Amino acid sequence: MINVTRSSMPSYEEYCEQIKSIWDTVHLTNMGPIHNQLKEQLKDYLKVNNVELFVNGHLALYCGLKALKLQGEIITTPFTFASTTNAIIQAGCTPVYCDVKQDYTIDETKIEALITDKTSAILAVHVYGNICDVDAIQKIADKHGLKVIYDAAHAFGVEYNGRGITDYGDMSMLSFHATKVFHTIEGGALCFKDEGLQKQIAKQRNFGINGEELECFGSNAKMNEFQAAMGICNLRHIDDELQARKQAFVRYTERLSNVEGLTVLPLTDKIKQNYAYYPVLVDKEKFGLNRDELCEKLLAQGVLARKYFYPLVSENKEFEKDMSKTTPYAKMLSRNIMCLPLYAHLDTNDVDMICDVILK
Ligand SMILES: *Cc1c(COP(=O)(O)O)cnc(C)c1O
Repeated sequence: MINVTRSSMPSYEEYCEQIKSIWDTVHLTNMGPIHNQLKEQLKDYLKVNNVELFVNGHLALYCGLKALKLQGEIITTPFTFASTTNAIIQAGCTPVYCDVKQDYTIDETKIEALITDKTSAILAVHVYGNICDVDAIQKIADKHGLKVIYDAAHAFGVEYNGRGITDYGDMSMLSFHATKVFHTIEGGALCFKDEGLQKQIAKQRNFGINGEELECFGSNAKMNEFQAAMGICNLRHIDDELQARKQAFVRYTERLSNVEGLTVLPLTDKIKQNYAYYPVLVDKEKFGLNRDELCEKLLAQGVLARKYFYPLVSENKEFEKDMSKTTPYAKMLSRNIMCLPLYAHLDTNDVDMICDVILK
């Protein structure tokens, strides 16, 4: 069985060495020394000034929205993981769905028409490591006095114009879940522009506590030392990791980029890519099979492709009405796109086998 993803692991010995000091410090969680060390290393790697670590990406995003004290409507997209919309709703705001464009990110030309006097922010997603048009989005936000937040869960290590992608906007969330390019088992982070937000973010992460005071209502979303130790180990190998992903990515592209009816992600030098996912958009008319049929063919050969993202978050049953109608392109994508297996050291023979099944 070839799974759609496989977590990267440091060696057993390397991890044990990294956690050894915890038996001396007996500091297991609550912003311990390993947590602080990882934070500093990530600031360098991501090329950002302010980073705070979290127990997972979802709570990072939720705490970020709360720290920004957002209210009313937030313009976002439905072509994302459930987390993005859940964080908006949990923070007491209303998601307003904007359609996505051909690169799967928010269609910036459709944002302004959705702005009302209740709009407080734009929460866009760098889908599959493809980046949003961050310059156009910032222009719109500046014109209308809106905050800009990015769900950068897919975009670890991506750079644009020589700048870390999480340095754009007011705030970006990263996920360090086991399935992501870089992981801390579970984990996440917020990168943010305004240093003054640090206190607010820290309070949201720790029950609203500041010193001895309870200053607001907050969550418990702290990253523990064992998670941070996994992060330090994985960060040591991140360049090899990205290089190994690139090999599989390039091989897929060689085999699949000219297949009638399939659209794959382009290799590009416009950004520093992270090769996080290998999505394939299937056009049944031209390809002969639809997405679901192709997934079944692959599964029969022991290949687990993932219908990702499907369904749209706007199709959540708790919404009173089906909001997916207002975003036809996102809906079409969710019905016709899938991600092929991609992880570091995925064997080229396996990539070829998967491509053979698809081409056949
Ligand atoms: C993984 C992911 C999240 C949530 O991150 P967790 O660390 O699993 O909580 C949010 N948004 C997107 C787009 C993701 O892929």
